[in-house]
Amino acid sequence: MAEPIIQIEDIHKRFGRVQALRGVSLNVEKGEVVVIIGPSGSGKSTLLRCINRLEEYNSGKIVVDGIPLDTTENINAVRREVGMVFQQFNLFSHLSVLDNLVLAQCQVRKRSREEAVETARQLLKKVGIPEKEGAFPGQLSGGQQQRVAIARALAMNPKIMLFDEPTSALDPEMIKEVLDVMAALAAEGMTMVVVSHEMGFARAAADRMIFMDEGRIVEMASPKEFFTNPKEERSRAFLSKVL
Ligand code: ADP
Ligand code: MG
Repeated sequence: MAEPIIQIEDIHKRFGRVQALRGVSLNVEKGEVVVIIGPSGSGKSTLLRCINRLEEYNSGKIVVDGIPLDTTENINAVRREVGMVFQQFNLFSHLSVLDNLVLAQCQVRKRSREEAVETARQLLKKVGIPEKEGAFPGQLSGGQQQRVAIARALAMNPKIMLFDEPTSALDPEMIKEVLDVMAALAAEGMTMVVVSHEMGFARAAADRMIFMDEGRIVEMASPKEFFTNPKEERSRAFLSKVL
């Protein structure tokens, strides 16, 4: 079998006296969609942020696509392969939608403006809002802004996409349009690690479910097993609240 595209080995992360991660190990295969759930404060965001080294960890080892997260050079190489989408869309409010998608392509990928614009337009089509290229983020709905944020991440041609509660800041009627884009991406074979409590999405798109609590992975199972027969009392209690 091929080497997992993400290898996480016994990660510990402390914030002062708070032990955010207490020995997390996880391998993600290429093309796999892993959905992480768990109570607030259980370490989900910290774990995601460790994967692209937005967060430094105290001990343990992470290797992404064969690159260990150790030297600055390697960390930068990994960041180029990993796209991330956050709960808050973090778009540049003073730039048009098109320029939000073009900027990093030119600065980081060194693409010509022409090439970057071409890629940007294709991606806006893909996320279903080609007509919004001239709009500014403030003129878009939350769901549209989040789709722009996804397109912006995709413009860098990531091998892996990380999503941290991408729909939790959205009004209910906009959640589906964002989940649909994510589901399409999953169906295309993108490797995805998704923190989300949208259980419909998880059932449909996840290859594997992970339940975290208090800085640890408490349960890891296929969605079918996880939703029909969760093994751990804590997962069961949590599921009964989100389902
Ligand atoms: P989750 O995403 O599951 O809600 P987090 O990973 O955000 O959990 O947080 C895990 C724990 O680490 C929490 O106790 C949180 O308060 C703490 N924490 C996270 N980020 C920081 C930070 N930058 N400084 C201090 N404590 C933090
Ligand atoms: Mg979080």
